Amino acid sequence: MNPHAPITLAQSLQRAQTQGLARMDAQVLHLHALGRETHDRAWLLAHDRDELSAATLERLDSWFQRRQAGEPIAYITGFKEFFGLRLQVDARVLDPRPDTETLVEWALELLPQGQPTRVLDLGTGSGAVALALQHERPGCLVTAVDASHGALSVAKANAQRLQLAVQFVHSHWMDAVPGPFEVVVSNPPYVAEGDPHLAALTHEPLQALTSGPDGLDDIRQIIAQAPSRLAPGGWLLLEHGWDQAGPVQELLRSAGFEQVQSRRDLAGIERCTGGVRAP
Ligand code: GLN
Repeated sequence: MNPHAPITLAQSLQRAQTQGLARMDAQVLHLHALGRETHDRAWLLAHDRDELSAATLERLDSWFQRRQAGEPIAYITGFKEFFGLRLQVDARVLDPRPDTETLVEWALELLPQGQPTRVLDLGTGSGAVALALQHERPGCLVTAVDASHGALSVAKANAQRLQLAVQFVHSHWMDAVPGPFEVVVSNPPYVAEGDPHLAALTHEPLQALTSGPDGLDDIRQIIAQAPSRLAPGGWLLLEHGWDQAGPVQELLRSAGFEQVQSRRDLAGIERCTGGVRAP
């Protein structure tokens, strides 16, 4: 089909799906191309007979191609909703996953409202976890670190736009942050090198995804460092892979952590494991 021939919104949505796009992805990209909120799917129905301009169709075509090549929707639209915040994201940072909201919810249970609890987010990427915590607990003192300068630029820009007072530090894990902190959270890289699942993630920064042959290299480093940075009675909470709850619990217990336990994500998978530094 000549991409410049005028077609309606409904026809364009149909065409996207014929080209193999998921219905939801096609809807989001159309809404974004038309300057609408990407959750406003009712708008699409009400406007299904609108004719799309040649320029819009051309832009959509290039987005369809990017999506078909496996690029996350968030990199194409340039933003992602996470815990009610609109975050700008690009290929310098991991596309924030809804699974990671499990980590945020658990941390919030440990952070009383209105108290200046010191919180550290390791490997903050887009800033998703740190910014969500600061937004929900304005009284907390949230520090966020990343070893990637690119990621820190993205996170700082998000903090500025959202007017959230997170302090950002360039650091490999806890090297540049002496602490102490009452709560340390992290969604570190945890995919095993050679995991076939990586084939679908080639657009995201590899250093944010993989961590040695079993995926646990960074988690081991964090667990080794954490006791020296946690206040007595402080919590370390880690996100990890679907099959890593057992090994992470074991690593925490061997490092002397107490009350070691795991939490399930929306899919029912044990996704986060944490423990307390002995008081
Ligand atoms: N949950 C992501 C995935 O498996 C990985 C995120 C991470 O390594 N922190 O797609």
